[in-house]
Amino acid sequence: MPHESRNPLPAIDPRAPLVLSARALGRRPGSMRKERLVVPAPEGLGVEMVGVPKGADVELDLRLEAVMEGVLVSGTVRVPLAGECARCLEPISESVEVEFQELFVYPDTRSGGHAEDDERRLEGDLMDLEPVLRDTVVLDLPLSPLCREDCPGLCSECGVRLADAEPDHHHDAVDPRWAALRGLIDDDRQDHRQDDDVPDDRHDQEG
Ligand SMILES: [Zn+2]
Ligand SMILES: [Zn+2]
Repeated sequence: MPHESRNPLPAIDPRAPLVLSARALGRRPGSMRKERLVVPAPEGLGVEMVGVPKGADVELDLRLEAVMEGVLVSGTVRVPLAGECARCLEPISESVEVEFQELFVYPDTRSGGHAEDDERRLEGDLMDLEPVLRDTVVLDLPLSPLCREDCPGLCSECGVRLADAEPDHHHDAVDPRWAALRGLIDDDRQDHRQDDDVPDDRHDQEG
């Protein structure tokens, strides 16, 4: 098949921070380049309780390697995380480093005739790493992040953070029925305090 210089216009923005060009790499299998990128984190890189703050530094150490069917991109991504502990709600800030590897298939090859829908493809010379970054980072995030592995959480009685409390922090066992009663008494006191603010006509009748 004669080589055609028909380059379809790439649908991806070549100036986007996470778009890489494979032009300098060339197509000779075995050629390799290393790249180091620091880019601002895109929005929504996270899960409910923890994620990468938008605009924070995402550091990528990349290895681009030309293989028969495309460009193999491997490397590590390092991101800061912010969130809150699922047990004690303490803010969490740490950083994680995740390794990944992704093959971008040349647009004019069909990877042995078995092109998959979920396969990533080069568009012209360009590779968009943003979806790769999302999959890599988001899949690595814990659904229940902890401030520390053995976080004891909050006291179920008073809500104090147990990690900050005395080691023997406890409450004398209270009969739940009594606790409910105590709640009623507190409500009652509240009512009386409000009553004091308005004139009480019962006293007028008695006196
Ligand atoms: Zn915690
Ligand atoms: Zn307590």
